[in-house]
Amino acid sequence: MKDILIVWDIDGTLINSKGCGRAAMEKAFYQLFGLEKAFKEVNMAGRLDAMIVNDAFDKNNIINRDIDLFFDIYCKVLEEMLIDKDYIKILPGVKAILEHNSQEYNIFHALGTGNIEKGARIKLKPHNLNKYFKVGAFGDEAIERWEMVHKAIQRAQAFNGIIYNRENIYVIGDTKLDIECAKILGIKSIAVATGAHSAELLREYAPDYLLESLEDKNKFLGIFG
Ligand SMILES: [Mg+2]
Repeated sequence: MKDILIVWDIDGTLINSKGCGRAAMEKAFYQLFGLEKAFKEVNMAGRLDAMIVNDAFDKNNIINRDIDLFFDIYCKVLEEMLIDKDYIKILPGVKAILEHNSQEYNIFHALGTGNIEKGARIKLKPHNLNKYFKVGAFGDEAIERWEMVHKAIQRAQAFNGIIYNRENIYVIGDTKLDIECAKILGIKSIAVATGAHSAELLREYAPDYLLESLEDKNKFLGIFG
């Protein structure tokens, strides 16, 4: 049986978080520094949380940079926002794919996300998605996205006691950055146009696979042969 590893992005891939990450960061920044719209010139899609927050510190000339305190407040704000269970939408087809069992291949799902771990787990909780992801790597663990995905792969391998063949490792995400990090690591990329970028734009970055959405489970599973 073929062992397959899929490293999942969160925002725009598993869920439509409707900007809750940005809104929670803006609120946390306001609580700490009394500054509004601190992230308005900060690009977030596909980037690591720690980089995003450091950019906001730079742009707002913050000298006293306690990023751990910032993330504590961010997580509290995020949790409060997501008491409304309908705030976040799970993207079509995601649950069916995560639930799928196969006779021909064994798929293991890991997280590889720019979110810090606590933030990621808060975002996945309303739709009960945490149970599908025993391991992952997160946005406060690396400088570059590919390093974070590399950690996710190492953790999945350690967890399962398997060295995955590179051609059976996939990274799935909604931005060009997800595609680029797959290329750096020599693994396969699945781009899905349910988030930040259109299919036309994603195509320019030449992903191995490009899907409009994850709604068609069979089309998705067709990737693995
Ligand atoms: Mg994303």
